[in-house]
Amino acid sequence: MGKVVTRFAPSPTGFLHIGGARTALFNWLFARHHGGEFLLRIEDTDRARSTQPAIDAILDSMSWLGLNWDGDTVYQFERAARHAEVAHQLLTAGHAYKCYATAEELSALREQQKAAKQPMRYDGRWRDRPDSDAPAGAPFVVRIKAPKEGATTIQDQVQGPVTVQNAELDDFVLLRSDGTPTYMLAVVVDDHDMGVTHVIRGDDHLNNAFRQMTVIRAMGWPEPVYAHIPLIHGTDGAKLSKRHGAVGVDSYRDELGILPEALDNYLLRLGWGHGDDEVIGREQAVEWFDLAGVGRSPSRFDLKKLENL
Ligand code: GLU
Repeated sequence: MGKVVTRFAPSPTGFLHIGGARTALFNWLFARHHGGEFLLRIEDTDRARSTQPAIDAILDSMSWLGLNWDGDTVYQFERAARHAEVAHQLLTAGHAYKCYATAEELSALREQQKAAKQPMRYDGRWRDRPDSDAPAGAPFVVRIKAPKEGATTIQDQVQGPVTVQNAELDDFVLLRSDGTPTYMLAVVVDDHDMGVTHVIRGDDHLNNAFRQMTVIRAMGWPEPVYAHIPLIHGTDGAKLSKRHGAVGVDSYRDELGILPEALDNYLLRLGWGHGDDEVIGREQAVEWFDLAGVGRSPSRFDLKKLENL
């Protein structure tokens, strides 16, 4: 394997929760195991929901857990001009197009599809139309020209091979009408520019991976290795939430008085196993960590176990 580069890319909309901390830990361990780099990118493009206290809480919790990152912290919002530049390259190369459909038109389309019980999806109405068809000065978004034939397969290191039919991929938006990039575009451009080789994240992003792959292929960029980790559930099998005691890493520290080593060991064993070993120290974890040990079913978060550590 060449040089390994992983990243943790939290959206700073709240504290660092248990799922995010585990994602960060797995990325950190994978990079350290391979003598590679672990990078941090704050995905603060959603200006309405991103806050400075959330950024501070994430950085602080990561330091407390001993998850040091290499190089400078990357702030996604600062890179908006670069994201737009890539969207324009895709336009020039014919891999993207301007869509002038109005909000009313698109909502009528959605209503029609809903009534016909069809999947609600943009229908590519501007895909093959010349710009000269649009009223002068009309606002537009830039959409990717997604492949329509064949299928796309991702060789996921945790989920195995996962395939979607390309007919299911939509021509999603890369640049909004105000020129700002969407999340889907920003992630791909940043991962590429940061040299990320392995994308390890929650499996709630698996569907996004296919759309992101469309951009990667259109740009002719190297494809990263993907590993989508099953989400953490509560002991009742439901999606983890506050009612399971799932709160921020900082409150486990401040209110439960948990030691970083203990939380670290608990997170490691949430979804990754190494024989019957219960307590695995940092050094051992770095030596042993691999993606093959990540389970394919959701792990269960048990606050009582955490409190008894
Ligand atoms: N910012 C995304 C999140 O916090 C993660 C994006 C990614 O890992 O690709 O869910």
